Amino acid sequence: MAIEIINTGSELMIGRVLNTHHQWLCAQLDELGYTVHRQVSVSDESSAIVDAVQESLSRSNAVILTGGLGPTSDDLTRGLIAKLFHRRTLVHEPTLEHIRNYFQSRGREIPFKCEIQAQYPEGALVIANDFGTAPGLLIELEHNPFNSSGEKALLIMLPGPPRELRPMFRDRVIPLLKEKLPNHQKHASITLKTACVGESLIEMEIAPKLEELVHQGLQIGYCARVGEVDLRLSAFGDSAEEIVRIAEKLSRDTLGDKIYTEHDEKLCDIVVRLLRQRGQTVGTAESCTGGFISNQLTNVPGASEVFLGSCITYSNESKVILLGVDPQSLKLHGAVSEKVASEMASGLRERLGVDYAISATGIAGPGGGSEDKPVGTVFVSLSSAGGTQTHKLFYPYDRESFKLSVAQFALDWLRRTLNGI
Ligand code: ATP
Repeated sequence: MAIEIINTGSELMIGRVLNTHHQWLCAQLDELGYTVHRQVSVSDESSAIVDAVQESLSRSNAVILTGGLGPTSDDLTRGLIAKLFHRRTLVHEPTLEHIRNYFQSRGREIPFKCEIQAQYPEGALVIANDFGTAPGLLIELEHNPFNSSGEKALLIMLPGPPRELRPMFRDRVIPLLKEKLPNHQKHASITLKTACVGESLIEMEIAPKLEELVHQGLQIGYCARVGEVDLRLSAFGDSAEEIVRIAEKLSRDTLGDKIYTEHDEKLCDIVVRLLRQRGQTVGTAESCTGGFISNQLTNVPGASEVFLGSCITYSNESKVILLGVDPQSLKLHGAVSEKVASEMASGLRERLGVDYAISATGIAGPGGGSEDKPVGTVFVSLSSAGGTQTHKLFYPYDRESFKLSVAQFALDWLRRTLNGI
């Protein structure tokens, strides 16, 4: 079963937009046991799009084409595909209604040419867009004209914006794919997410334990991002489930609490959930992270039940005024020190009355480092009823990765504390 992905959009070709569809769609398809054989990006030019579609259809069972379904002059997909398969374009009344309601409910006039999005090539299945106006389209080619075998093929067209494409693919396209292109090969997989451990360390610990299973068909994948590594275990065939089940057990026995989830969730989701379950609260006192930890927490729906507030205390003065840090501690130990981090956390906990207070103070760089405290040095404290503890860490990265690493560490520490680890 061969699937190819074509992303259209001139903005992708000039580096204005990061192509996230490739990665996201491949991950979704992999979860379902479908293999993507090829993925390409092309500009919004008619010939580029048509050539790519013909070429992909010549060797695949399904082609997923993204972008170019909007109302603007560079949105060509709908018309080009209708022409390529010699189909008329018709108007899909429910979509027209949806477009009109969409703008009416927002008190806006329907923009020029927007109704064009209700057009579809005759015979195509129109896939509703719950988060925008351009529907997706699916054409089932009973005889694929571009493949000499003439086998059946699917051409799926999805809107470009990720906030529209993702829910449409998850909620509406996956069921269609399963129905129209059933994957008969048995497949099993699981992704174990770990935090605050390096990729090589995970591999060193896990690889010898899983070696035997690899000979039986287990595939191991490591995906490293700042502050976290995903361990993916997958297998095909009749014994796929058994192989993955044993691999999962061995991995959990080896990595223990380094694994924080096997679901599509982040550390901040878990922390908020645990706090809600326990009816407890948290606050942050942030210097070098500039509010990044609280940003993560407040990205989670329901955070207001558990997150009481944050003080972004970037200067010495604000640490004293807002958190009650002792000026002597700043003078004797410096703003980036165990003592100050600890006073920041305990000061916030006392003032805000939270169960847990997290603080972070460090040197993000590129300037400001010293021999003692080089760029990347950071102190993170956690204050709770049981006392205040501090960790000294070293993340000599660019400023954004530095902040993300500190936030990951802080959230993972709180997760472990809440789990009693
Ligand atoms: P629109 O109605 O906005 O024109 P569309 O279906 O025509 O939607 P495009 O014009 O291709 O889609 O893309 C719209 C926007 O979606 C782009 O400006 C870009 O921000 C985003 N986008 C498109 N393709 C990708 C991609 N591969 N990865 C990430 N974002 C993308």
